[in-house]
Amino acid sequence: MRIVVTVKFVPDLQSTRSFTDGTVTRTADDGTMNELDENAVEAALLIKESFPEGECEVYALTVGGPDAVGAVRKALQLGVDHAVHVSDAAIAGSDVFGTATVLAAAVREIEKDGAVDLVITGMAALDGLTSMLPTALASALDFAQLTLASHLEVTDGAATIVRHLPDAHETVTAQLPAVVSVTDEANKARYPGFKLIMAARSKPVTTWALSDIGVDPVRVGAMAARATVVEASPRAPRDNREIITDKGEGGKQLAAFLIERGLV
Ligand SMILES: Cc1cc2nc3c(=O)[nH]c(=O)nc-3n(C[C@H](O)[C@H](O)[C@H](O)COP(=O)(O)OP(=O)(O)OC[C@H]3O[C@@H](n4cnc5c(N)ncnc54)[C@H](O)[C@@H]3O)c2cc1C
Repeated sequence: MRIVVTVKFVPDLQSTRSFTDGTVTRTADDGTMNELDENAVEAALLIKESFPEGECEVYALTVGGPDAVGAVRKALQLGVDHAVHVSDAAIAGSDVFGTATVLAAAVREIEKDGAVDLVITGMAALDGLTSMLPTALASALDFAQLTLASHLEVTDGAATIVRHLPDAHETVTAQLPAVVSVTDEANKARYPGFKLIMAARSKPVTTWALSDIGVDPVRVGAMAARATVVEASPRAPRDNREIITDKGEGGKQLAAFLIERGLV
């Protein structure tokens, strides 16, 4: 069994965001592995742990600038076996189709070690937040796709998920190979232990450029993007905030604030 888990390097949610040429400014200091991808890594590790030792391998895969290596390093600390970082100046400005093209080519390159059975993604990247990547990736790989899994099981060459909809719980099965996106309800992501953090330091990260995975640069990047960012500007600061300083009556004041606005 070979699993690839996709992890994206995103700006920390707590940091102040800014834009460069219409896209989010990305710097090493405030970047981190997309929090929702921790559930994807956990799902992959749980499947690995259900197999006998040595019968399941997990690869973490990221596409991004030089700093994005931070995402796969975090995945190594969590316990994945291999880390792959695809980075190439020509990828900058890629839309979801360009990103999926690169990820799919990287999965095909990983398959030179043996067939990939399962690709697990997060439910959304907390910067782009389209949730379109998993579908685009399944299409590029011609794999079945199961999205928004709150529960994932792999048995007898098939993946079965449970998806919570507003009025129903769906159980859906697909034959492997498949792309599955998991939600934050799928599991409780583990913390990297000290031993794994130390072990991760000596684990290598494979870095590929587009030429290593056979992607023609004209298929990706800003020029190939089917979507154009027309404008991106910071949201105006909120001017209707009220800060309540608690001097013993804070709870009452907060309740009065909410009742006054019909919020409770
Ligand atoms: C015109 C245009 C220009 C853009 N330019 C840039 C740019 O210069 N730099 C840039 O970083 N983004 C850029 N973007 C955004 C980029 O295309 C998206 O971030 C990307 O396609 C993934 O979409 P998403 O973030 O909405 O992911 P979602 O679909 O919300 O993500 C779902 C899951 O897919 C996986 N995933 C998503 N992206 C990656 C990745 N890169 N590596 C590994 N796993 C991933 C994760 O597991 C994630 O949880 C641009 C977008 C447009 C439309």
